[in-house]
Amino acid sequence: MTDQNSTVISNAFPAPELGEPFLLTPGPLSTAFEVKKAMLKDWGSWDVDFRALTADMRKRLLRVLGAGAHDYECIPVQGSGTFGVEAMLGSVVPQEGKVLVLSNGAYGQRAAETMRYLKRAYYLLDKGDYLPPRGDEVATILLNDPAITHVLAIHCETSSGILNPLNEISKATRAAGRRLLIDSMSAFGGVDISPDKIPFDAMVSSANKCIEGVPGFGFVFIRRQVLESSKGNSHSLSLDLYAQWATMEKSGQWRFTPPTHVVAAFLEALRLFEEEGGVLARNTRYTRNRDVLVSGMRQLGFETLLDHAWLSPIIVSFFCPQDPAFHFDRFYYLMKASGYIIYPGKLTVVDSFRIGCIGHMDDHIMQDVVKAAADALKEMGVRDAAPPANVIEERNRLSSM
Ligand SMILES: *Cc1c(COP(=O)(O)O)cnc(C)c1O
Repeated sequence: MTDQNSTVISNAFPAPELGEPFLLTPGPLSTAFEVKKAMLKDWGSWDVDFRALTADMRKRLLRVLGAGAHDYECIPVQGSGTFGVEAMLGSVVPQEGKVLVLSNGAYGQRAAETMRYLKRAYYLLDKGDYLPPRGDEVATILLNDPAITHVLAIHCETSSGILNPLNEISKATRAAGRRLLIDSMSAFGGVDISPDKIPFDAMVSSANKCIEGVPGFGFVFIRRQVLESSKGNSHSLSLDLYAQWATMEKSGQWRFTPPTHVVAAFLEALRLFEEEGGVLARNTRYTRNRDVLVSGMRQLGFETLLDHAWLSPIIVSFFCPQDPAFHFDRFYYLMKASGYIIYPGKLTVVDSFRIGCIGHMDDHIMQDVVKAAADALKEMGVRDAAPPANVIEERNRLSSM
């Protein structure tokens, strides 16, 4: 157990300045003081200094991608991560293409909705909230539908925290001669995804997830050949990846006003990321955060939504306790009063809540989170945090299928 003041004395990851609560949410998340400080300067978007920032950022992001990155370009896109997903789908999928959307949560559903807006064909494999899309399922669907040109996979489905099996999905896609697109928004930088292991045509992430920057833009990694053949394919002026890239290559500038301060903060975040030791170090820290969180919460009686094998180091969903004294709104308020912002559940069927493991914090903070949860339960008069028995039975039944 740690004492009351451990958030203050844990000097590697001190409590946020100005008494801010920790954001246990998968982006926006808690950022380092240096990242916030990097936003205190104004930049001219056309100026040579800012153009150098942009070029440096694109180069360093490709370096994070790891082995095989030389075949790819990195294109930043203004807006939240969803803008990046829409830019990727609209730019890469031909008007007459068809996408197999692998869904097991809100972000898979959002990708399908994007396809409807784009008025391009798709087939939705909907696995509900608990279960990963498997390689053999992908293989069967591709075999039976030769019109499918692309497969879209969500790397970590942030609505449940499930880490989807990209390896087997990638193998099945490649074996069928189709193209893989990845939403690795919440995993890139925290989970290894180098294209020499998982060859993809395009992959998207954003500034405010595992690199630990602030929100304001996304970025798409796209195979150079695919990019070159995507000219004129986009449905959208502002989300046209080819046009954004062509302008950046020619003038070093973004096509429209860039989020200058966010880019400066992101470069500082990248510097801290590299200093920590890159993807491997970050994966280790996040995994430790998760393990401390999950084992502590289990000791209080909480159960995870997912079978242990599918837990990501990004975010964990817990069932709400059965005890009638438990009310999520009150729990949320008490956690916030202790200095921790948690996340409501985003599931369709059962009551749940989520706690993120990413951001500028370590396992000492997670021990304090568990302690705050124990105090909140006590305050509410909840004796046992166990979920209803039928919910667990249903989970176990589904995951053994
Ligand atoms: C965060 C996230 C997105 C993008 O969400 P925005 O709210 O648009 O930033 C997309 N997919 C996944 C898996 C995410 O975690």
